[in-house]
Amino acid sequence: MNHRCKSSSPRPKTKSVNSHRRFQKLRLDIIVRDYGECVRCRVLFNKSTRETPDQPLQCHHIKPQSLPQYEHLKWEPTNLIMLCQECHDVYDNGKVHELDFEYEIPPLFEY
Ligand SMILES: [Zn+2]
Repeated sequence: MNHRCKSSSPRPKTKSVNSHRRFQKLRLDIIVRDYGECVRCRVLFNKSTRETPDQPLQCHHIKPQSLPQYEHLKWEPTNLIMLCQECHDVYDNGKVHELDFEYEIPPLFEY
């Protein structure tokens, strides 16, 4: 299972605690924006897939931040979308850079 967005295991090469904390906060904002469910399941299957302890939702970078040309999109909310593990696997760990469904990602809610 891929725990990329969870904080359970500290990776040896973390950039900084601040960056990590900042992403955790951004992730929460994305969860709220996407109604706490997998957007792909909602759009494609009209199904509500919520986070469970067994199946955490993934905060997916559509354009992978690991590629230099997309690095600046790491903090861009419209590059982030909540997906369940099954839908996340469709994008093959960032090898697929486009969503396979029609969806315009809304900006974050204003507080
Ligand atoms: Zn899904």
